[in-house]
Order: sequence, then structure tokens, then C-alpha cells
Amino acid sequence: MPYIYQKQSRRHFIKILAGGAGAVAAMGILPSFRLVDPKTLKTALFSDTHIPVDVSETYRGFSMVDNLKAVVKEVSNSNVHSAIITGDLARLEGKPGDYTELKTLLSPLAGEMPVAMTLGNHDRRDHFLDVFPGHPGQRQAIKDRYVLVLEHPAVRFILMDSLVFTNQSPPLGLLGKAQREWLDGYLKGHRDKAVILFFHHTLGDNDGELADVDRLFRIIAPRKQVKAVVFGHSHVYRYDVRDDIHLINLPATGYNFRDQDPVGWVESDITADGGSFILHAVGGNLEQNGREKKLTWR
Ligand SMILES: [Zn+2]
Repeated sequence: MPYIYQKQSRRHFIKILAGGAGAVAAMGILPSFRLVDPKTLKTALFSDTHIPVDVSETYRGFSMVDNLKAVVKEVSNSNVHSAIITGDLARLEGKPGDYTELKTLLSPLAGEMPVAMTLGNHDRRDHFLDVFPGHPGQRQAIKDRYVLVLEHPAVRFILMDSLVFTNQSPPLGLLGKAQREWLDGYLKGHRDKAVILFFHHTLGDNDGELADVDRLFRIIAPRKQVKAVVFGHSHVYRYDVRDDIHLINLPATGYNFRDQDPVGWVESDITADGGSFILHAVGGNLEQNGREKKLTWR
């Protein structure tokens, strides 16, 4: 039996993951949430949608709008409970119209499940918040940062904010001291569940990656409840490990930079002990479409 139909856990999930009825009402949408298995959080993971205000725009032969439509359709037809998009939501400059178009494209999902987003180097926080004033989960009080905590009975998602400059080169990311100190304190006080972190930037040491990655790992490596970090940015789908923490680099939904990389989304089943991740490629290299990756948490 794939699901446990418990009304209580469903209410629990709706209340906490959605941030309460007030937050849902604030979004102007009243989602009819799906039934939730309290042992497994099923989430659609995608990234780098790069939605343009001009819906006819293409890049490297990809229509970002058509790709997101295809992904939304597949996610809607799947049995996931929630969706997370790890940044570069907007095409390049984070224009208000990019987010308006994104909201329209996501509306079939927003009616069915919580859809939570992080911001990338092609996003504008102010424009994003104008179009998406509501949010799932609990927003944390960190100045000029968009940080959410989403709770499920088995796992806690922390969505962080690595956006510092919009559309600059190199496209570096930074969590910054205030956000790192908040995370340190939060993890000290919340050890009861597996934690997965999400943000936009990759974890290498190039100028266009997360500049404070070593300082981040000094905080999270000793905190055994942190199991994985999920991010986008590279438009490359790959898995790595650092300090026994799994690093999951999501493929882009909008377009790839190299023909060898898939474009699409990842269907995840996450439990207290590990996760299963299935690639759903809608474009680019389709060779790995349907391939499952299983991870065990430390
Ligand atoms: Zn991108």
C-alpha cells in the first residue's frame, strides 16, 4: 500500500507545510492538497526554470515555457505531495513579468500541492515577493533573505537564500553571516528529524559558486541531522558527497548548457533513513530518463 490515509497526519502536513490557512489565503489560492504518507515525503524537485516575460523566447533551441509546461503536467500526473524549485526562476534579470508568467505556469500545481521556491542569481527578491507574497512553510526572520522551513513528520526541509547580485558575472552566491548564524542556532535547537537543505548555488570553489561553502560545512558537518544539500545553478544533473552529506545537483528545467545534460525534473521519495530519486527528462539528453538513484543518510 503506497499511502497511509490518516486524516490527522494530513491535517498536520497541511497546517505546517502550507504555513497555515492564513498563508494559503494570502497566496490567493486554496490548494486541495493530496493525501500524505507520514513516513515518506514525495516531492518533485526542479530548478533553473528561467521563465521569460516573452513566452516565445528560446535559448539553445529550448523553449523554457514549453519545458515547464511539460514538467508541470508530469508532476501533476505523478503522486508527489509537494514541489520545490531551487532558483533561477526568472529568465535573467528577475523582471516582474517573468514571475507573473511563472505563477501562471505553476498554477495547476499550486492548486494541488505546496510549491516552494528558492532564489538564484537571475532572480530579484523584491519582484519575486511582489508576485508570490504567500509561501508554504514558516518564513524565518532573517533580514533581506528568503528562508523557509517546511515540516513533514519524517523530515524537515530548510530552503535557504544564496542570492546576492542579480544577473552579474561571475554569478557568485553567498548565504552570508546572518543566515549562517541563524542556521547554526536553528540546527542546535532542532535535532529531532532528518534535515535536507536547499538553495540555488553549487558548492565548488569557482568564482561563480557558493562563496561561503566552507563556512557552511563547518556548521552542518557536525550536525548529524543534516543529510543532504540540494541545489541547481550548473544545469548539470549529478550526485556527490562531502563530509558524508549527499550533494544533489538538480538538472535545469529551462535548458542545458551542454548537449550531454538532461533537462527535466527529479521525483523524490524521502524518508528518515534515505531517499530515492528518479530522473524525468523532458529534453536534452534523454538517456538517463527514468533512472533511479538511491541514497542512504548518514
Ligand atoms: Zn540557471
